[in-house]
Amino acid sequence: MCAAHSDERPRSTLRGVIALGRALALVALLTPACTEEDAPPAPSAAPPAPRAASPGPAPPEAPTEPARPAPAPPAPDPASAPPPGARTRVVLLGTGTPIPDPERAGPCTAVVTDARALLFDAGPGLVRRATAASRAEPALGPERLEHVFLTHLHSDHTVGLPDLMRTPWVVGRAAPLHVYGPPGTAALVEHLEQAFTEDTRVRTTGLEAQGAGPRVAVRELGPDEEVRVGGLRVRAFRVDHGAWNPNAYGYRVEGAERVVVVSGDTAPTDAIVEACDGCDVLVHEAYAEDAWRRLPEGTRRYHRAFHTSARQLGALAARARPGKLVLTHLLLFGAEPAALLAEVREGWAGPTFVGRDLARH
Ligand SMILES: [Zn+2]
Ligand SMILES: [Zn+2]
Repeated sequence: MCAAHSDERPRSTLRGVIALGRALALVALLTPACTEEDAPPAPSAAPPAPRAASPGPAPPEAPTEPARPAPAPPAPDPASAPPPGARTRVVLLGTGTPIPDPERAGPCTAVVTDARALLFDAGPGLVRRATAASRAEPALGPERLEHVFLTHLHSDHTVGLPDLMRTPWVVGRAAPLHVYGPPGTAALVEHLEQAFTEDTRVRTTGLEAQGAGPRVAVRELGPDEEVRVGGLRVRAFRVDHGAWNPNAYGYRVEGAERVVVVSGDTAPTDAIVEACDGCDVLVHEAYAEDAWRRLPEGTRRYHRAFHTSARQLGALAARARPGKLVLTHLLLFGAEPAALLAEVREGWAGPTFVGRDLARH
């Protein structure tokens, strides 16, 4: 469905449609064939609500239309799932890079409890991926997305921010969106709000009657600054991302029973070893080293200075000792994901997963 259609709906209708979609999705969730665990992105990308775009001639608009059952995903890898009863889960909403890969949305990792979801980075596509993931994790429902931590301001990590600021508001988010990030984050948000002045004017004064404009609370973090959100403690720490230094962060998230570290974009750095230090889940960027060797020299030099090869990550993981290593921000340069895994394994034999959009850990 195009945005113009959703613009014309009264808010109450939107909420009703979304509620119906959720109810149908819940029924689907109780059917084993519809589990979201490690579902491939393409079939899972269709949101559960009947408003979802659907290929082919099927009428997409009628609110009473039953949701189409999601295609059965491949059998999940039990080793990749969160431990049974885990109160803190990791959901990959985008494992891609600036390269527009339809199977990988832009960078975004969610750390989720039953009560809330914290997002790390705002790559393009995150709101739609979160909506798909909300079938298994209700806290990722679009109207419940209220906290995002930016690792740095590279556009692949921020292009989804205006989507996150506005789309959840359109579908009913009343609470402010809290945006945390390094210096520069406040100016980014301020200018985005200005850019959408006309949209705010029409949505708040026209027949849509969506009340006050989208409220955004920005907090720029210094290194080692800590934020508490519900039962989660989030600490920013500096990483090594070339010309972005010193304003490139990783985040350590302490939940009720698990510690998660999100690397952001970084070359290999001791800061990851110190922040993880036996953490439960380390979500770390990686590029394929053998494939990288075939790139032009200038490109090679850039990636070596700004990013971490899978082989370097294996050596790093051996020092950081995560309970589980999850690769994201995948720069494959034409290689297969299995090649990344093989390079990591040269230095690290622990549980390791090449991230896939919508996988839960
Ligand atoms: Zn990036
Ligand atoms: Zn970057």
